[in-house]
Amino acid sequence: MDGEAQPDPRVDLHVHSLHSDGTLAPAALAQLALERGLSLLALTDHDTTAGCDEAEAACRARGMAFVAGAEFTTLWRELEVHVVGLGLDRGSAQLQAHLRAVRDRRVARLVAMGSKLDAQGLPGAGLVAQVLAGPGTPTRLHLARLMAGQGLVRDVEDAFERWLRRGRPAAVAPEWPTLELGVAAIRAAGGVAVLAHPHRYKLSAGQQRELCAQFRDCGGQALEVSVAGMGPGAIGRSAALARRFGLAGSWASDFHVPGVPWRPLGRFAKLPDGVAPVTALLGSTPRHDGKQG
Ligand code: AMP
Ligand code: MN
Ligand code: MN
Ligand code: MN
Repeated sequence: MDGEAQPDPRVDLHVHSLHSDGTLAPAALAQLALERGLSLLALTDHDTTAGCDEAEAACRARGMAFVAGAEFTTLWRELEVHVVGLGLDRGSAQLQAHLRAVRDRRVARLVAMGSKLDAQGLPGAGLVAQVLAGPGTPTRLHLARLMAGQGLVRDVEDAFERWLRRGRPAAVAPEWPTLELGVAAIRAAGGVAVLAHPHRYKLSAGQQRELCAQFRDCGGQALEVSVAGMGPGAIGRSAALARRFGLAGSWASDFHVPGVPWRPLGRFAKLPDGVAPVTALLGSTPRHDGKQG
């Protein structure tokens, strides 16, 4: 392909495994990606690269390219903002120290939430101990699944609605690193920083522009322009932001769980014209294509 590269629909650049709040092992994810006809998969678990070795080996064994990534939890003006790092050098000491610190904060937060549940007469500490004994970056979703599994709530949504979300009895405000620190950790590991799912933040149009400007100014390079579940309006708005701030565009499913109709692996609208595909910034993409070395 020459001239302006077209985004490849067989690429999914934001996917979770059981190393965070997804349910599939990385190798199973690679197999599903193959069955969905993908040629490139990025694994982007919350605040960890722990699944990347297994995912990379499984992708290569199936003739697919792989991009090592993670989804970084950050704070921008007290708002939780996610940044996907793509093409990360997992050996970067700065990267791993950053991720470890975030996971430590997650553990502390969940322990505090467990105490609050205890105070409400629920077996909070026990549930949290179970979450922490499990695989992967611990999240509130793990806790919600256990609460639903034990019949303490109707379902995961009910767990958030009654107990876990902001303003509810077990809520604990997160203390994530700033957006700038998240981007710095990605860049220090040679990665491309992609602002995740801009449509999900509760921001005015003006605040969205301020977020994008600050993200670009601190080293951010791309924006998720097309994520599964976005309608044409949301995609149009994120494409306009990408063009305005000179950000490349990424496209992804944000897949977590198989067998549900929402966010299926490898299914999302194509990138609109005039937005540069983020894959052009990923130096490792062609190198991994079809090669074992
Ligand atoms: P945490 O990163 O620990 O704050 O947990 C956030 C995770 O919980 C996210 O990755 C979502 O997948 C999930 N989540 C957040 N809010 C809800 C909700 N209202 N219903 C279902 N899942 C949610
Ligand atoms: Mn998640
Ligand atoms: Mn996210
Ligand atoms: Mn995600």
